[in-house]
Amino acid sequence: MTLQQPEPTQARRTTRDRNADLAERFGTPLYVYDLDRVAAARRALFDALPEEFDLFYALKANPHPDVARALREGPGRACRAEISSTGELRAALTAGYRADECLYTGPGKTAAELHEAIGLGVRMFSVESAGDLRHIGAAATAHDTVARCLLRVNSPSASATTGARMTGTPSQFGIDAETLPELMPELSSVPGTRLVGAHFFPLSNASDEAALTAEFEHTLALAAELRDTVGLPLEFLDIGGGFSVPYGVPGERAVYDKLRTSLEAALDLHLPEWRAGSPRLACESGRYLVGDSGQLLCGVVNTKVSRGRTFVILDGGINVFGGMSGLGRLLPVSVELDGGTADERGSLVGPLCTPGDLLGREIPLPSLAEGDLVTVPNAGAYGPSASLLSFLGRPSPREVALRDDEVVSVSRLEHGRVMESDTE
Ligand SMILES: *Cc1c(COP(=O)(O)O)cnc(C)c1O
Repeated sequence: MTLQQPEPTQARRTTRDRNADLAERFGTPLYVYDLDRVAAARRALFDALPEEFDLFYALKANPHPDVARALREGPGRACRAEISSTGELRAALTAGYRADECLYTGPGKTAAELHEAIGLGVRMFSVESAGDLRHIGAAATAHDTVARCLLRVNSPSASATTGARMTGTPSQFGIDAETLPELMPELSSVPGTRLVGAHFFPLSNASDEAALTAEFEHTLALAAELRDTVGLPLEFLDIGGGFSVPYGVPGERAVYDKLRTSLEAALDLHLPEWRAGSPRLACESGRYLVGDSGQLLCGVVNTKVSRGRTFVILDGGINVFGGMSGLGRLLPVSVELDGGTADERGSLVGPLCTPGDLLGREIPLPSLAEGDLVTVPNAGAYGPSASLLSFLGRPSPREVALRDDEVVSVSRLEHGRVMESDTE
């Protein structure tokens, strides 16, 4: 028997046919997640890191239960969950994560959230301020337990030049490194807490491997220095992430060929006991693990020309894919267009009554007509849950998860008004 490899063009046509079929069955706008690609991204990222590393999946990127589950179950090493709300905690538990595998982060953890999280078994927290630590300690004490805490550190300087900078400047995230000498006695004696390590998250979406590596090296050096100078505990060290994948534009996940070797060298230099598990090490990622697993399919509802400019009006805009693009924090997406060559220009807009509902302004487009299908590639991260789902009251998009090209689930995030009576 011979196995025939499909020609690339044939493979593309197959994906297009599959998408057309899914759009017909489930309607548009429609998110399609390929769980085999989630598994591949998980393998790739674990392979890019030394074996000793844990990997936290930041559910913020996509809390879909099948997507999150695909990062924990199945062959290979399992991700742990990084969560930042009780909603994300419930999503993680639904996806099969144990509460004691979760790292709870965020600058504004409320007393009610902390009680719920600790009650459900979360024991590891990233601490963003002295007040945050006291809140964690109070909740843990009320549950007769002790929370294991990582101090999130806002580095005094930054070495990398790409990605979204999260530290080195005034920030609601982390504790300024230069204040640690003064704060350590106070931080070390909060009832209900035990400081076990540190958490750094200096940047996001760094496609340049050299910049990412330099940032990690900087972090490792600083962690070792803070341990030696101010007694920062280092049983556990989460050095952050920044792993990159395109967002809503064509392209591939970044490849980090040299990272593992560079990290091993930096660890040997700064934390020579690391191979013996001191400290235990971790990285974290959201987008890299899920970004390329998703596609957003939108239908063309109308086309029109206004003063010489073409507008292609889709049935989904920033209400389904707007986490960042619609808010102007990202350049408009460019889309992969099913069928035809892009020899025209136009704006791709959504159906909302706001000029901000723009997915692409004056971008190359093929000739599109009512009923055509448009595919936004690399839409697996920061999709529905990062969008303006309630704005203008449209239904939230369906999300289908596929394994081996077979549909394993169809779901929709629910939203809407819940009436509450106030009888006082
Ligand atoms: C958002 C966030 C992540 C995930 O970021 P990506 O760029 O999606 O990998 C990881 N860690 C922390 C602390 C975050 O706030």
